[in-house]
Amino acid sequence: MSGILIVAEHTRGALAEASLELIGAAGIAREKLGGPVKVLVAGEQAGDFAEALNRLGVEEILVAQSGNPHFDAAVMEEAILVAARAQQPALILIPHSASGGSFAAAVAVALGSGFAADVIGIGFAENGLTVTRAGFGNKVNVELDFPGSACVTLTVRGATFKAPEGAGSATITPLAVPLEGLAGRYRHVGFEEAPVSDVDIGKAEFILSIGRGIQDEKNVPRFAELAKRLGATLGCSRPVADSGWLPKPHQVGLTGKVAGNCKLYIALGISGAVQHLHGMKHVETIIAVNTDANAPIFNVATHGCAMDVFTFADALEQCVG
Ligand SMILES: Cc1cc2nc3c(=O)[nH]c(=O)nc-3n(C[C@H](O)[C@H](O)[C@H](O)COP(=O)(O)OP(=O)(O)OC[C@H]3O[C@@H](n4cnc5c(N)ncnc54)[C@H](O)[C@@H]3O)c2cc1C
Repeated sequence: MSGILIVAEHTRGALAEASLELIGAAGIAREKLGGPVKVLVAGEQAGDFAEALNRLGVEEILVAQSGNPHFDAAVMEEAILVAARAQQPALILIPHSASGGSFAAAVAVALGSGFAADVIGIGFAENGLTVTRAGFGNKVNVELDFPGSACVTLTVRGATFKAPEGAGSATITPLAVPLEGLAGRYRHVGFEEAPVSDVDIGKAEFILSIGRGIQDEKNVPRFAELAKRLGATLGCSRPVADSGWLPKPHQVGLTGKVAGNCKLYIALGISGAVQHLHGMKHVETIIAVNTDANAPIFNVATHGCAMDVFTFADALEQCVG
């Protein structure tokens, strides 16, 4: 078995960025596992995404056209099994998403492959492929290997790997998937839009984030204005979002968004709970401001100021004029 099979994801006419990030992850794995790297895209509009998926490092795009306009886990599972039985890949990469989670484990069982979910790192050791995933509520990173597994299926966390920039020269091949017997296994009930927001924590390069340390909702506009003047996106910890001080899309962390593109993160009055760190501890430069010099946020901070957030804001406001 050799090579890598990537499973692309799309929703309501839009390709998920995670699909392209998996091509980046495959680039790392293929150094040891070898090629080819193939991308499978399935669904009624599958062919529409072939061009966008044709990125550097992809040899072939398999297009499994199905008549169902909605996501169908049974069709996905069947399409992957058809592709995997033909290709015999050493690695299958699936986005760690609600959709990916609905078929990934079933695929692994059907193929008898190794399996790990929510993977945040890929490496190699004596026993071959190793992966990193978080354990114990994100308190520790766990490293797994798969001795004896000729094939491994992984769901990979979004905003973990970088999508390759350049266009590829992949061939595009239709993949026939027998759909008889699949109809009715899943029923599409409806689609609920997430609240619209002009904040995209996942894409922001500079985030100024506020926590419970700002004391009161009435102080939010001051920090929102400061973020605007600095050219930063306003982020927050969960209590700030839960209290309704800021809408949910501003929340950074495990049940919020991962600051996947962020280069500079200023944490104001945030203690640094593991669930918050999950969304930002990887950021290159972190500046933390907290009156408690022992706050865990200082364990991940590049620069720490054990001081009052309002005094810090006074100084920053003077700097930016
Ligand atoms: C399943 C689960 C999922 C979760 N998901 C998330 C998530 O996605 N994101 C998230 O953020 N949290 C999440 N949480 C909550 C998390 O555990 C923490 O409760 C939360 O991050 C704490 O937010 P905070 O740092 O703003 O508040 P606190 O922990 O109350 O910290 C406030 C900090 O402000 C400091 N402070 C107070 N006054 C000042 C001042 N004047 N100047 C400077 N510093 C001051 C204090 O010293 C303190 O360290 C989750 C929890 C669970 C159980």
